[in-house]
Amino acid sequence: MTDPMPLPGHVWPEFQPGWVWLCGAGPGDPGLLTLHALNALRQADVVVYDALVEPTILDWAPGAERIYAGKRGGKPSAMQRDISLRLVELARKGRRVLRLKGGDPFVFGRGGEEAQTLVQHDVPIRIIPGISAGIGGLAYAGIPVTHRDVNQSVTFVTGHDQSGNTPQTLDWAAISRGSQVIVIYMGMKHIDQIAAALLDAGRAPSEPVAVVTQATTDDQRVLETTLAACPADIDAAGLEPPAIICVGRSVLMRQALDWQAQARGESARDTDPLGRGRPAESA
Ligand code: SAH
Repeated sequence: MTDPMPLPGHVWPEFQPGWVWLCGAGPGDPGLLTLHALNALRQADVVVYDALVEPTILDWAPGAERIYAGKRGGKPSAMQRDISLRLVELARKGRRVLRLKGGDPFVFGRGGEEAQTLVQHDVPIRIIPGISAGIGGLAYAGIPVTHRDVNQSVTFVTGHDQSGNTPQTLDWAAISRGSQVIVIYMGMKHIDQIAAALLDAGRAPSEPVAVVTQATTDDQRVLETTLAACPADIDAAGLEPPAIICVGRSVLMRQALDWQAQARGESARDTDPLGRGRPAESA
């Protein structure tokens, strides 16, 4: 086979017919794809992609058939089981099937379920992780998901379960007590309930919150607010999903680290937003 990648010195895996590669496309910016994802795009016969995959990325698989399998809350959507079985069917036809999902396929993306179905049907798979919106999307907003002066733990939660409701299995009181920073996926629909649950659990009304919509794309928007004010502020700003919601003091770091604003010529609002003086030299 001719080497599909313009990067010599590494042996790139060959996409064999009849395989499904389950691959993360990152949060939006095509530059956040991994090299394995690019290698996959260059060899795929068919790309089965989700709603949150940027169209430019599909152009990097020029020879491949495109099949849309998007599922967005509230909109008509292909059933999950149908998608998984479609992947099985395509693989059995001897095609190189690239299943491309937003962010990381194993983070709130049902990649695990699809992989399970493929394995149950004896279809060989490869998993290609991606940059998840809850980490990379916040980084594009200038929010480090951990910072030594803020948090030693972070909790990633989903704002709705399979039925579309706030997950009953989540113990908001425990999350609230146990994690200084909470990163919420799919939280927009039920933000009122989520904010109320966190306030009930003892988080301060003034706790900093950031809402990052369409993170890492040209349409990225960031709202800085507080736990008490976030439902009303989201409404007032007219923000729409997809959004990552970050609750915790790491949001304050944006005042120093909003690198996109700085690239536009704005200066940092506060270079020491946590008020801890200069960062220590040692690790
Ligand atoms: N597997 C994905 C998450 C899929 S669930 C990942 O690892 O990122 C879909 C949710 O992810 C959205 O409702 C939103 O909460 C979040 N999300 C994905 N892409 C996003 C983006 N570009 N900006 C903001 N949120 C995003």
